[in-house]
Amino acid sequence: MHCRVFRGLAGALFTLLCVGLLSLRYPSSPLRLNQPNPGPLELQLGDIFIAVKTTRAFHRSRLDLLLDTWVSRTRQQTFIFTDSPDERLQERLGSHLVVTNCSAEHSHPALSCKMAAEFDAFLDSGLRWFCHVDDDNYVNPQALLQLLKTFPQDQDVYVGKPSLNRPIHASELQPKNRTRLVRFWFATGGAGFCINRQLALKMAPWASGSHFVDTSALIRLPDDCTVGYIIECKLGARLQPSPLFHSHLETLQLLGTAQLPEQVTLSYGVFEGKLNVIRLPGPFSHEEDPSSGFAPSTASSTRTHPGVRCRPRQRPEL
Ligand code: UDP
Ligand code: MN
Repeated sequence: MHCRVFRGLAGALFTLLCVGLLSLRYPSSPLRLNQPNPGPLELQLGDIFIAVKTTRAFHRSRLDLLLDTWVSRTRQQTFIFTDSPDERLQERLGSHLVVTNCSAEHSHPALSCKMAAEFDAFLDSGLRWFCHVDDDNYVNPQALLQLLKTFPQDQDVYVGKPSLNRPIHASELQPKNRTRLVRFWFATGGAGFCINRQLALKMAPWASGSHFVDTSALIRLPDDCTVGYIIECKLGARLQPSPLFHSHLETLQLLGTAQLPEQVTLSYGVFEGKLNVIRLPGPFSHEEDPSSGFAPSTASSTRTHPGVRCRPRQRPEL
């Protein structure tokens, strides 16, 4: 009896020893699949965290359109950040609806509060890329994946559409009521932007938890400007401009139908009182789909002088 137990134990020990030796010899063998993968695996859509910022007032008018279109293709990695509970949305999205404690105002602190919630949720997710979009953005998941695949894995990456055609100037509050002039590029939040994990981790001291709102207060500018400020002024990294992100502050009619499949984001809206949408013939009326159509070419391409303050509702685009 003792002999059998001993033989059993010896057998088990021998098997464990072999498994240990094999896993040392073949680090990529299936025996180590449960370890974090250190190698440069090709980027998948599932590696991208997409955060959509919304507010109570737009749950019906904007979000339903998103859920019926691109979000239905990226459900696993898309999270909607809002300020108010909503049973119907909760039913459709489950844990992918994040009801923050942020106020439903359009103030800098309220918007920064939501960006902080997006950022923290991304850090917790362990995913490789953070992409932020607004609730009036259309995301083309395949084009997004293709773009992010082009960046080397060992680089800090912040990619998006520059909001202005020059760096913004801001006054950074200093101790003893002093200020310092800072300049930096930033990507328009309304066109969407992406940051890789390596860079996001470096941003944490200024961007995680309550730090984001504090940092935003330091320059008295909105959330997207604050992201640019942290990356360029605090970390010395640079915005990589991409023409594939689009907000409704640019003339969307200039985008040809043939170019649409390569675009990473699109948008729609009203600019200077006129409808600004891409031209895309389709079966839906403007009421059913306010984001596209045969809108007359009415959007103005006039660019006013941006000034040094960053005003999200008025700032002109490149
Ligand atoms: N938004 C918000 N709270 C508000 C107003 C707007 O979170 O009180 C969000 C909105 O859902 C959208 C983004 O901020 O994702 C930009 O809002 P909008 O498109 O209305 O304004 P824009 O700055 O593009 O003119
Ligand atoms: Mn908008």
